[in-house]
Amino acid sequence: AVRSLGSEVTIDGLSVAYGDFHALRDVSLQVPAGTTTALVGESGSGKSTLALAAGRILPAGARITGGSVRVGDVELTALDGRALRAARGRTAAYLAQDASAALNPVMRVGRQIAEVHQVRNGAGRAEAAVLARRGLEDVGISDPDRVARLYPHALSGGMRQRVIIAMALAFHPQLLIADEPTTALDVTVQAEILGLVSRLQQEYGLTVLWITHDMSVVAEIADHVAVLYGGRLVEHTDVLTLFEGARHPYTEALLQCFRSGRDAGPKEPFTTISGSPPVGGAPPGCPFHTRCPLADSRCGTDLPEPRRLAADHVAACHRLEVVR
Ligand code: SF4
Ligand code: MG
Repeated sequence: AVRSLGSEVTIDGLSVAYGDFHALRDVSLQVPAGTTTALVGESGSGKSTLALAAGRILPAGARITGGSVRVGDVELTALDGRALRAARGRTAAYLAQDASAALNPVMRVGRQIAEVHQVRNGAGRAEAAVLARRGLEDVGISDPDRVARLYPHALSGGMRQRVIIAMALAFHPQLLIADEPTTALDVTVQAEILGLVSRLQQEYGLTVLWITHDMSVVAEIADHVAVLYGGRLVEHTDVLTLFEGARHPYTEALLQCFRSGRDAGPKEPFTTISGSPPVGGAPPGCPFHTRCPLADSRCGTDLPEPRRLAADHVAACHRLEVVR
């Protein structure tokens, strides 16, 4: 490794609300420095809220109602105002699904990256231009001099994502938050970008939170996986255990969808989990009880506490003994 950028991230008992609606409840999660944790769940599970809260980059209207977030030795949840704005710039970088929204349409891409080096790292103008070109090379762009002079609209979707990744790295982020950045790309380009981020993650010791609903992406990039449902963390484990020994019924259902989707011929309908995720907040009891094939009477009234099954494996379900 050239240098190690990533910091450990510790989330403890975190709750986040939009108005009266709790998008996230009492989530605890540790991300070791220099590793990738995939945040998995259907839309509305709280995975984006959790990732954005980890960088304290939640949208306006979101409120942290409990718990704490620590990135490296900075407790982000203890900061506000100017101290928070300053800390944000030093901690998290964000890769969005829509790369074009993150780029200035009327500025050449080389200049945009150079500006980060000038403002963030205090580089002079000439040095910043050199660093920007090197950054483009680093993300696999073979003709950085030509690409640096282009405007964002002249780039393909995959090239735009590469430029955004170069820009994110220019921030020297302690934490990289990736919000399904490859979803809009075609399969070949998606594989290239995943390979690129994996390489950069190892090379720079990045700490990554990768939001996805795609288990093939999880298999490709994750060291650990956090599965969310109805704003709760339902299972957290290393990636091998996920695929070989997941214990939560919801995780099992997600894996079944993934396996049947992968094995199905093009004309076969994909298996989906019957029912839909809770809307407007989780019901009492286990958040998954309205859809769970194993639910018993207790599941509708008592919230299952997370149980540690192994050093790297936690699951929250009353009936773990039944699942394997
Ligand atoms: Fe299913 Fe009950 Fe376990 Fe929830 S606690 S996942 S409803 S068995
Ligand atoms: Mg989302």
